[in-house]
Amino acid sequence: MTGKKEKASEKREKRLQEISLLRTIPYSDHQRWWSEETIAVVTGANRGIGFEIAKQLAGHGLTVILTSRDTSVGIEAAKVLQEGGFNVDVHQLDILHEESISEFTKWIKEKYDGVDILVNNAGVNYNLVSGNSMEYAKQMIETNYFGTKNMIKAMIPLMRPSAAGARIVNVSSRLGKLNGRRSRIEDEALREKLSNLETLSEEQIDNMVSTFLQQVEADTWQSGGWPQKFTDYAVSKLAVNLYSMLMAKQLSERPEGEKIYINCYCPGWVRTAMTSWSGNVSAEHAADTGVWLALLPNEAVTGKLFAERRELKV
Ligand code: NDP
Repeated sequence: MTGKKEKASEKREKRLQEISLLRTIPYSDHQRWWSEETIAVVTGANRGIGFEIAKQLAGHGLTVILTSRDTSVGIEAAKVLQEGGFNVDVHQLDILHEESISEFTKWIKEKYDGVDILVNNAGVNYNLVSGNSMEYAKQMIETNYFGTKNMIKAMIPLMRPSAAGARIVNVSSRLGKLNGRRSRIEDEALREKLSNLETLSEEQIDNMVSTFLQQVEADTWQSGGWPQKFTDYAVSKLAVNLYSMLMAKQLSERPEGEKIYINCYCPGWVRTAMTSWSGNVSAEHAADTGVWLALLPNEAVTGKLFAERRELKV
């Protein structure tokens, strides 16, 4: 290992230890704004980080709706948690399909009459550990960005008013930072435009991803100044991060008692199927910041990107 890598790894280990300690501190009664009546929906929760988030939220005493695009796989995953004594329900949900989203929305409205927490975890990265093929760029953008966005739009009307505020947590990535050191859009003017929250619009974000996909289609994306590493994945997560900032601004206009807080986090490089189990943190650890954000006691934190419980600049 080079000196720099060694230092980074030492720093990460230290933070992992700190977080492990933080996790042993129980929430006090006045911090616990939730109960078993609190409903948390987790997408892509049949495995990996999503499963862990579902497990940890249920462990804190909430009712968790574990969703999975494959019904039988979801039922199996939920059974593991139910047998462990957790309060977990299960439903099919494919975020790529509008009918699936609307069927799920109808079911949750009828059965639970609303939602308090939405964790958008479902996502794909077809390039696994290395490589930068654009073969599945469209599907990636459709799932990671449009699927997440469609879930947010479908769930907001169901989010229940509360003093603590409803919560949306998006499992995103630091690769989707506008000003990342190693992976960022080269066009400074575009970066500046996208970083101006006063003027940022959904149309601008959609235009960015569609320009990218047009260049992929024409095979000109290599000279388009897009992030160099995991390009399609980075663009999809950048869109998620920007959309979350935009939504945070819009949602902050809601009256007290009806607030919805929305944040993103990067779980690190995690040992799951997505990385062919080659990551350097466990799914259990990777779930931590998402669960922490979902449960933040009485703090109006919104429109931010976090990693390991610390804020990063988008
Ligand atoms: P996994 O591949 O283990 O899990 C991904 C989950 O998303 C699976 O449950 C998968 O379902 C589900 N999913 C994929 N497409 C859809 C869809 N259309 N509708 C519903 N569910 C879908 O990966 P991870 O647990 O590692 O990833 C979870 C999240 O964390 C993703 O958003 C990912 O981008 C993000 N992330 C992961 C990192 C890592 O190092 N692993 C790093 C940074 C971010 P199925 O089992 O049916 O395929």
